[in-house]
Amino acid sequence: MIRAKYFSDSYQDARAAFVVAAERAGAEIDCYIHPTEKAPDDSVLAVDTAWLGPQDADVVILCVSGAHGPEGFCGSAAQIQSLTDGSVADLPKGVAVLMVHALNPFGFAYMTRYNENNVDLNRNWVDFNTQVDTPALYEKLHAVLPPKDQFNDTLFSDVIGSFSNLMLEHGGYEIENALSAGQYSHPTGIGYGGSKPEWSSWVMKQIVAGLDAKTRHIAYLDWHSLVRSGMDDMVYLCFNLPGSALFERCKGWWGAENVDLKSVDQKWNAGLGREGGRPARNGIMMWGVQQCAAPNQDVSGGVVEFTDELMEPMRQKMANLRAMLLSRYFAHTRDVLSAKGRMLYAESRELWSPTRVDWQEKSLNTAQNIFEKTLIGASEWANEDVSN
Ligand SMILES: [Zn+2]
Repeated sequence: MIRAKYFSDSYQDARAAFVVAAERAGAEIDCYIHPTEKAPDDSVLAVDTAWLGPQDADVVILCVSGAHGPEGFCGSAAQIQSLTDGSVADLPKGVAVLMVHALNPFGFAYMTRYNENNVDLNRNWVDFNTQVDTPALYEKLHAVLPPKDQFNDTLFSDVIGSFSNLMLEHGGYEIENALSAGQYSHPTGIGYGGSKPEWSSWVMKQIVAGLDAKTRHIAYLDWHSLVRSGMDDMVYLCFNLPGSALFERCKGWWGAENVDLKSVDQKWNAGLGREGGRPARNGIMMWGVQQCAAPNQDVSGGVVEFTDELMEPMRQKMANLRAMLLSRYFAHTRDVLSAKGRMLYAESRELWSPTRVDWQEKSLNTAQNIFEKTLIGASEWANEDVSN
């Protein structure tokens, strides 16, 4: 076991391991303590940051984990690996690395993709002064969800039955779109984007606002999980405008064949048994970071999703829905300590970040490779500015 040791068993363990790894790497460490929420053991919930390299670096690699709570098990492990394996020991000229650990510490600690207000932080970056439309079909889906604070196999079977009927009527794409595009009308639902910027979004704004005026570029690497598209590679979601120079730049780092929309769509759909593009998205964090950073810095990069083996399409859809409903349940009940809570917590852990050592080893091997590619890309970006 070489890499699997970087995976933690809880938010608290992940936080401690991140801070130790950052200290050993010689990073400058900062911390944003959650103003209202505590971990299940009453300890602090916080977003921790680690800075390596010159403060006025031309390019900053902004590497984020845990925007979606338990996806932080993967992102945290990748960050701790990068801090430990020598990747950041001798940074290229003009490049700094800023690690943001557990952006959604509540969700990480309580095993929910959503935050303390049941908000999906990667749908929270919309302009709340204007009306943001909820997909029309979401209303129908919401009507058949179980009560927000209840979950058991009977309730889950009922939802599957109702959703299957709606899928026959509307098609798989429309259902997926309604569930994951982001909705702004049902605070107790699935994929809720909120009604105001959440605390974690405020933290990210502070972090971006704190960048040096001499910094011109942000290389954005936001670790997520868990797409079931086969274990061969991660799924790369570049949120730059397709065809733009910044999109092309990201392709240059991570591989055209990986970032190209068509191949991403293929991977995305591989296990879902359908054709076509990915669903629409509202309020993506990278777009918010772009807005905050402009005009001082431009941003290239995106989300990189840890992946796992394909399942049969129906099983895969059920696993995805179960993970979302369990997230909603934990966001509302915070019950991770009762016998039932511990059982559902363990089940959710496998859905977001498997504990199989072979999976962890392989995934972190790929993550190391992606981080190295990002470093090379950032170095080239900095060199372009020197030669211009
Ligand atoms: Zn995610």
